[in-house]
Amino acid sequence: AKNEGKNGVRIFRPTMGEETTQRVGLERDLRLALAQDELVLHYQGQFDARSQMLVGFEALVRWQHPTQGLLSPGKFIQVAEENELIVPLGEWVLREACRQAALWEANSRDFTMSVNVSALQFEHSGLLNAVQQALASSGLDPQRLVLELTESVVLRNPEVAALQLTRLKDLGIRVALDDFGTGQSSLSLLRTLPIDVLKIDRSFVQDENIAEGSSARMLLNVMITLAHGLNMLVTGEGVETPEQQALLDELGCDNIQGFLLGQPGPPEDICWTPLNHTNR
Ligand code: C2E
Ligand code: CA
Ligand code: CA
Ligand code: CA
Repeated sequence: AKNEGKNGVRIFRPTMGEETTQRVGLERDLRLALAQDELVLHYQGQFDARSQMLVGFEALVRWQHPTQGLLSPGKFIQVAEENELIVPLGEWVLREACRQAALWEANSRDFTMSVNVSALQFEHSGLLNAVQQALASSGLDPQRLVLELTESVVLRNPEVAALQLTRLKDLGIRVALDDFGTGQSSLSLLRTLPIDVLKIDRSFVQDENIAEGSSARMLLNVMITLAHGLNMLVTGEGVETPEQQALLDELGCDNIQGFLLGQPGPPEDICWTPLNHTNR
C-alpha cells in the first residue's frame, strides 16, 4: 500500500496547480519517511579557528527518498514546518544526534553536538520533554548538546522564548543563535536571552570584499567583539577558503565551520584528526 498515494495524487491534477500537487505528495511521502526510517543525519565538523582541531559537529538532516535520491533539508523542512510533521521529525533528529554523540563519547574526546530546532518545534510544549528523553535514552552528557535557534524563531515571541530557553538551559545543555546577522537582530535580545554561542551567518564570512578597512571586515569585527563582550563563543559559518579562516582567527573568532575543513557527511566518514595544520 506504500505507493497507493502516488496514483491518488494524480487524480487531483486537473484542479490543483503543479506546485500544490508536488507539495501534497511531499507531505504524504514525508509522513511515510518518518514511519519508515528514511531520514538520515549527516554531520559537519566544527573546528577551533586557530588550531583547526575538531571541537564539535552540527547534525544536518537528509531524506533518503525512495525515488528522488538524497534530498537536502531545503527541499522538505519548510513543508514539514507548514504542518505539524516538523515536531516528530525534530524529535527524531534529537534522538538520533544524541545517540550518535553518545557513541562518539566513548572516544573520550571533547566535542559538542549541535542540533537545529525549528520555530514550531521550539514553541511546542513537548520540546523540553523530547530533549530530556533524548539525553536520558542516549546517556549523553547534557553539556555536549547545543540547540541551534535562529533569531526569527526567538523573535516570534521573546518572552515565551526566554522562558523556554531558561527551562532548556536548566537541563544543562547549551544554546546557539544561528544565522546571526540575517534576521532582524535586536541587541537587547542578545543581552536578555541565555545564549552561549553566536553563529555568524556565512553571508558575512563570504563577503568578497574583506580587505583591511572594509565595512565587511568591520562588521565581522563588531559581531565577534559583541559576542565576546556578552560572554558568548563565536562560530563563523560557511568558511570555504584559507583566507576566510585566517581572517576569522585574526579577529578572534573561536570556532569555524565550512567546506574548507569539513563537508557534511554520514557518521562513518567523520575524520577525527585535524585535516591540516597551518604553521603560524
Ligand atoms: P544551517 O543551520 O545554517 O546549516 C548550515 C548549512 O550550510 C548546511 O546546509 C550546510 O551543508 C551548509 N554549509 C556548511 N558549510 C558550508 C560552506 O562552506 N559553504 C556553503 N555554501 N554552505 C555550507 P544543509 O545541510 O542543506 O541545511 C540547510 C538548512 O536546513 C540548515 O541551515 C538548517 O536551517 C536546516 N536544517 C538542517 N537540518 C535540520 C534539522 O535537523 N532540523 C531543522 N529544523 N532544520 C534543519
Ligand atoms: Ca544550524
Ligand atoms: Ca547557520
Ligand atoms: Ca542558514
